[in-house]
Amino acid sequence: MSAAALSAPCTLGEFHLFEGGGRQFLYLVPAGAIFEVDSAVEAVIGLLREGPAGYDELVARLVAAGHSAGDATELLEELRRVRVIVGENHVREPLDAPPADFPLQSLVMNLTNQCNLSCTYCYEFGEDKVATPEGKKKFMDLDTAKASVDFLLSQSSGRNTVHITFFGGETLMNFPLLKQVVTYANERAAEQGRAIDFSLTTNATLLTETIIEFLSENRIGVTVSMDGPPDLHDKLRVFANGTGSYAIIAPRVKALIQNHRTRPITARVTLTNGVTDVVRIYRHLKHDLGFHEVGFAPVTTSPDRLYAIGESGMDGVLDDFHKLADEYLEYALRGEMHGFSNVSDTLAELIQGVNKSHPCGAALGLMGVGPSGDIAPCHRFVDSDQHSLGNIATGVDREKQADFLNRGHVGNKYDCQTCWARPLCAGGCHHEAFVRYGDTGHANLHYCDWIRDWTDKCLRIYGTISANNPEFLEQFAERKALN
Ligand code: SF4
Ligand code: SF4
Repeated sequence: MSAAALSAPCTLGEFHLFEGGGRQFLYLVPAGAIFEVDSAVEAVIGLLREGPAGYDELVARLVAAGHSAGDATELLEELRRVRVIVGENHVREPLDAPPADFPLQSLVMNLTNQCNLSCTYCYEFGEDKVATPEGKKKFMDLDTAKASVDFLLSQSSGRNTVHITFFGGETLMNFPLLKQVVTYANERAAEQGRAIDFSLTTNATLLTETIIEFLSENRIGVTVSMDGPPDLHDKLRVFANGTGSYAIIAPRVKALIQNHRTRPITARVTLTNGVTDVVRIYRHLKHDLGFHEVGFAPVTTSPDRLYAIGESGMDGVLDDFHKLADEYLEYALRGEMHGFSNVSDTLAELIQGVNKSHPCGAALGLMGVGPSGDIAPCHRFVDSDQHSLGNIATGVDREKQADFLNRGHVGNKYDCQTCWARPLCAGGCHHEAFVRYGDTGHANLHYCDWIRDWTDKCLRIYGTISANNPEFLEQFAERKALN
């Protein structure tokens, strides 16, 4: 290092300090990585908190504190490499976006835009819907489905396994097509020496023994949309006549969990005003019904809707998330898996060192296709003319895709630039941003404090597990979350 560099003032880089299992860690924001803090690192941070200092001055002060000059130099080099310390005039490098021809990994096929329920909060049919299905096909046909499978296989070169998620409307309203797609997709993938992994999301009302058997035989992962015990589930998950759907789905869900033997069954809960008792909902779905995992997401809506969760409701949700997360930690320290998937999903991202340019895979590794063959950034934008990225018959409109991705890039979200949670959040869901702010590229600023609190909690859980039972974390290396 030159003499000028040695005396040039250094300052602290961007990181979030957290504690876990009695140890200190840094979450390194430019890299999305975790770095353990020992007493020497703590000393450097303490010195630089007093103000900028030259490199040689830092070495001298570490030596005065009892470290050898060699150790001090090595440590400072390491801290510069991982950007815990940076030059005073350091300019942050922008995070590269993935290339425009990023290979597809997952296709969400909305087999129908019809549903046999009328859930008040539904983003497809409710007051905040972005879909414009008028005049379009209600059910996907076989030709469109086959073309969609071909599209996925042609756009995913280099990937040995790709993923198809069946979605709706209510997915099982087009079960005959689903069966044909599984057969066709398996044949086409096998011809290429590749594999397809299938999953579906359903409201469970139409599950039958035959369907469950098919799902199990074909290793199709199942997520059931379900909001808890009857008094909570039936508030908004209703048929068109207003009757709740719990009584219809409970026996079907039990049969699914009992007889689908090849993949774990997951519940996905939408939290709304009055449906925020996360712990009670979790207990019912996990322990009474037997779901393998339960994941929670607050409803996506304008803040003035009756079912929107207000600020105090979200505080209560966060308290309950903390309670379940503490329980998760107890399980993990015993080497047992807890079913609260919100923790597992975040742990997986931390372990994989995720550093997102975009909040999710929408329009990158993931796309949605609607019954008419329209291509959308993800399943939530299917059938929306405003957000269409082309059609299966004609291909992706690369200009529209680039515009969507450019606006959604975290580097273009002003408020996120100084936020330590951005490697994981990257501004949050594009669809939620559109519903809230009318722009898919807007940062979801209504939940920043919430996200940072929750991310900090998951970091502390990570730290505690890595200090006390690091083997537990190995299982998350390959885990992927699907929103
Ligand atoms: S949306 Fe908020 S929490 Fe998320 S990265 Fe941006 S500023 Fe941070
Ligand atoms: S996070 Fe939002 S935009 Fe991204 S895939 Fe999920 S619903 Fe779509």
